[in-house]
Amino acid sequence: MTLLLKIADLSASPRQFDRDLATDWCAERAGDVYTAAQPRLPVAITATKVAEVVQVQVRAKARFGFACSRCAEPAECDVHAEFDHHFVGPGKLDAGDGQDAAGFDADPDVSEHDGVHAHLDELVIEYLLLELPSAPLCAPACKGLCVTCGTNLNQATCGCAAQPEALSPWAKLAHFQVSPAEPVRA
Ligand SMILES: [Zn+2]
Ligand SMILES: [Zn+2]
Repeated sequence: MTLLLKIADLSASPRQFDRDLATDWCAERAGDVYTAAQPRLPVAITATKVAEVVQVQVRAKARFGFACSRCAEPAECDVHAEFDHHFVGPGKLDAGDGQDAAGFDADPDVSEHDGVHAHLDELVIEYLLLELPSAPLCAPACKGLCVTCGTNLNQATCGCAAQPEALSPWAKLAHFQVSPAEPVRA
């Protein structure tokens, strides 16, 4: 199901709607980093309509799972999207000469409704995606993994930091023994 408001339900006095939106879009749109932690996310909408113009204030809250980009441990985060949006009547945006469209064309916070419904699902998804960090952390102070031995430094300490030479990519060469070359047979 998509997130729709029926234009006929709206008037100049603000009306509140508590809806929800399925999170199946997450796999395709953010699935390389995030998974949806709930099948549906709550969306609170306040809407008014004056003439053909629908104004909405939207608040959506979603919980996502991810693997920490430093330590790879699973973690979850809550993401909030809060925005205002205007829907103008069908055909009002691309006209450019219509009086209702004046000043609206270049504004991302304005789009058209189809005369029957205002579609909110894509807007909510876009705003939530904007809030998602590209490299999420389990905690701001996550210590990550030791680059040498792979120990999760949030859970344990390793001796690597005490031996700074071990960090050098050449450290292993210090213990590398070269075998005598085989005599070349003619
Ligand atoms: Zn972490
Ligand atoms: Zn280590």
